[in-house]
Amino acid sequence: MTNFRSNQIFEAYNRKPVDVVQPSNKQTDYFNKHVFTKNAMKQYMEKNVYKEVMYAIENQKKIDRKIADHVANAMRTWAAEKGATHYTHWFQPLTGLTAEKHDSFFTAIDGTGIEEFDGSTLVQQEPDASSFPSGGIRVTFEARGYTAWDPSSPAFIMQMGEGLTLCIPTIFISYTGESLDYKAPLLKSLQLLNDAAVPVCQLFDRNVEKIYPTLGWEQEYFLVDASLFMARPDLMLTGRTVLGHSPAKGQQLEDHYFGAIPERCYAFMRDFEIESLKLGIPLRTRHNEVAPAQFECASMFEELNIAIDHNSLLMDIMDRVAKRHNLRVLFHEKPFAGVNGSGKHNNWSLATNTGKNLLSPGKTPKNNLLFLTFFVNTIKAVNDNANLIRSSIASAANDHRLGANEAPPAIISVFIGKELTKVLNAIDSKVKKGKIDELETLDLRLNISNMIPDVLLDNTDRNRTSPFAFTGNKFEFRAVGSSANCAHPMTMLNAAVAVQLVEFNQSVTTLIKNGESKEEAILHVLKSYLPACNRILFEGNNYSDEWAKEAKKRGLSNLKTTPEALKLLLSKQTESVLIKTGIFSTIELHARYEIELEKYIKKIQIESRLLGELCLGSVIPPANRYLGELAETYNELKDCGLKNDVLKSHKELITEIAEHINNIKINVGKMIDARKKANATTNIESMAKLYCETVKSNFDIIRYHADKLETLVDDSYWQLPKYRELLFIR
Ligand code: ADP
Ligand code: MG
Repeated sequence: MTNFRSNQIFEAYNRKPVDVVQPSNKQTDYFNKHVFTKNAMKQYMEKNVYKEVMYAIENQKKIDRKIADHVANAMRTWAAEKGATHYTHWFQPLTGLTAEKHDSFFTAIDGTGIEEFDGSTLVQQEPDASSFPSGGIRVTFEARGYTAWDPSSPAFIMQMGEGLTLCIPTIFISYTGESLDYKAPLLKSLQLLNDAAVPVCQLFDRNVEKIYPTLGWEQEYFLVDASLFMARPDLMLTGRTVLGHSPAKGQQLEDHYFGAIPERCYAFMRDFEIESLKLGIPLRTRHNEVAPAQFECASMFEELNIAIDHNSLLMDIMDRVAKRHNLRVLFHEKPFAGVNGSGKHNNWSLATNTGKNLLSPGKTPKNNLLFLTFFVNTIKAVNDNANLIRSSIASAANDHRLGANEAPPAIISVFIGKELTKVLNAIDSKVKKGKIDELETLDLRLNISNMIPDVLLDNTDRNRTSPFAFTGNKFEFRAVGSSANCAHPMTMLNAAVAVQLVEFNQSVTTLIKNGESKEEAILHVLKSYLPACNRILFEGNNYSDEWAKEAKKRGLSNLKTTPEALKLLLSKQTESVLIKTGIFSTIELHARYEIELEKYIKKIQIESRLLGELCLGSVIPPANRYLGELAETYNELKDCGLKNDVLKSHKELITEIAEHINNIKINVGKMIDARKKANATTNIESMAKLYCETVKSNFDIIRYHADKLETLVDDSYWQLPKYRELLFIR
């Protein structure tokens, strides 16, 4: 029997991979082809203009208006030669998506068309801000918002079919100057971190003039066939399935991870990689992930600001290219219950203008002390700001992962491995008066690991369950959700480390003034941080119940839901890091809190509505039809003279189905009542709490009964594609 679902399956299973035309066999031929790189700037700008722009970028200075005119002209010439007809300010509002509004270079003056793009259009635009999240900062009658050029991220050309558009990365602020996006606070945190880290670095090396964080992200995602996706309203509207019985075979056999990539998916990957490389995104890695239909791609690390733009851009590209391949890409943190969800590991480190990675253990005593300084300060910063960091990854979708036994938990802790634990212990026990000979003992410790080839040090000592792990020469923040804009968690981390480094520098300076040598002072301050570090350091299994108990003893929070975690944004400690440093004003911070709560409420509200609709429209009707058929058969069999004990199983099945239907109806009713109550609240904080505790709390039980029906009802009656079809992509 064919029904809607089997038609969709037929279509999905009979697709061929789409041909991908590679621009050249050498990726270096087209890498950065659509980016206004330094080289392109040099070529299209006059020498003095180029120099001024470079100076402004490197020193985060404003670009003079006259210079901006020249830059705009150079950009337009470059873009037009590539075929671009339009331009847009490209920004990252708090929706979590990217935003663009295209304008044409073309203008008509007295009936004559000309191409135009001047400095003022480059530097600033005024999109209507009223339709973006603003958390009450912007009342509608004052809906003006500004996008302002961020010269530190290069302009690029976005290609869609034959259409090419020049995109100018910008920040997005309100009329009154408050930030309405993820980028503005991030840029502030970069400046703050630089200002805090340079003096610390100069204790060791006077040549260091600039310090910037680096980020290498690893992006996990699922792929689903377009036809099946379209037949699942929950995937379409929420990015995740709110129903669906787990397939007999999921990820138990562990046969997908690093397995052979299915051909259609492979074609898709090649295609989006080509587009990404053209835009300067240095993608290097692709592989199958743990769950069926789950994959990962990773790029080489870059300056953090650029890496974040590149990740946002990549998600857009993947979304678009997937459609070309009759696929849909799912960035949701938990599209399918019962198999792994998706994360986005943020590999973070600090680099200097002299080309040094500050989190790379060195080979000389001096270098090791430099490494230890940044290493210990980062751990201390995470300890002091664990709550802030936890809040930065809170979302309705990430709640499914944090605290479930598959992703780093809601308790923030740091893993550093055996070797470095030994080093920290050595500081603790050996540094008494901070004599240099004791320093050498420390150096020896580190050199033990230096004698082992790096590969071994990196790969042997790993802990996949830690939310924040040191992995040889960088920290890997693993609890970030796959759909998140990394800017928010990275802003928080940068800010926390910056504040910590300022404190460190002050303490060291004081000790030096009191007569200690520089090395002694540094070691003494580092030693004084060890109790705080030990509180947050954890080397064991983060998924275990023992850890939850131990963490509680240590006073670490374990907040499993978004409303609880977001509340941490308004704590005293948070204010001292975010408001005192000027990353957020009080208004901005409260606005952000509200925006995130609102997002949470809306997501749960949509899921709840959909769950109700699907149950009433797609689960109960086929169950009822089947029930009618069963009842008819039962009566017919009875008419044939079959005895009651023979008909027992028929009756049981009828009862079972009827009970599940009944339970769904009762619980959907409860959920709707809870929703009405929640919606009637005017306080957004209470509303979020109600959505979490009284609306969402019905999801599991409703789903339980619906999923039972999925296994009981005649397969040919079932209209929603099942997990076994969605998850095994052909
Ligand atoms: P995995 O964590 O899967 O073992 P890798 O160790 O290969 O993967 O690296 C993961 C990511 O870490 C890559 O994106 C890589 O570019 C990034 N990375 C490496 N060094 C640094 C660094 N100094 N700063 C930031 N990211 C880095
Ligand atoms: Mg990793």
